[in-house]
Amino acid sequence: MSTSETPAAGMTTLPGAGTNWKADGRCREVDPDLFFPEVGTGQSSAAKAVCLSCEVRLECLEYALTHGEQGVWGGTTEGQRRAIRRTRRDQPEREPEVEDAKSQRNSVILQLTHAGLSAAEIADRLGCAARTVTRVRTSRRQEAAA
Ligand code: SF4
Repeated sequence: MSTSETPAAGMTTLPGAGTNWKADGRCREVDPDLFFPEVGTGQSSAAKAVCLSCEVRLECLEYALTHGEQGVWGGTTEGQRRAIRRTRRDQPEREPEVEDAKSQRNSVILQLTHAGLSAAEIADRLGCAARTVTRVRTSRRQEAAA
């Protein structure tokens, strides 16, 4: 992707284009270079701030996870998306009938945690209690430490 295009604008030239979420990306309104900081400079916070208020953040994040995009997408850096992929790989395989809404919600909570959202932000986005977010995070930490 050209670095002269924002992530959402770049969708028009990539496989998978045709989804309509890209039209609502907030990055269409700002300097595209913001979303492609030099690797290792830690200068991704400005782009992440834009993503925080973007209505299509989850769709954008899923797209970037699937397509191995560079730069800031869905409020995450490439390194954070690698961590999300690892989290997903580490989760045990489940039969489709066992994969209920609760486990899907917990997975999203962990993904948004990796993306840097606070418990309150995640709770607000998912329509659950902040203590539920905290419980899922604590449970995950305990599993990782075991
Ligand atoms: S989440 Fe960020 S990168 Fe993705 S469309 Fe929204 S503003 Fe652009």
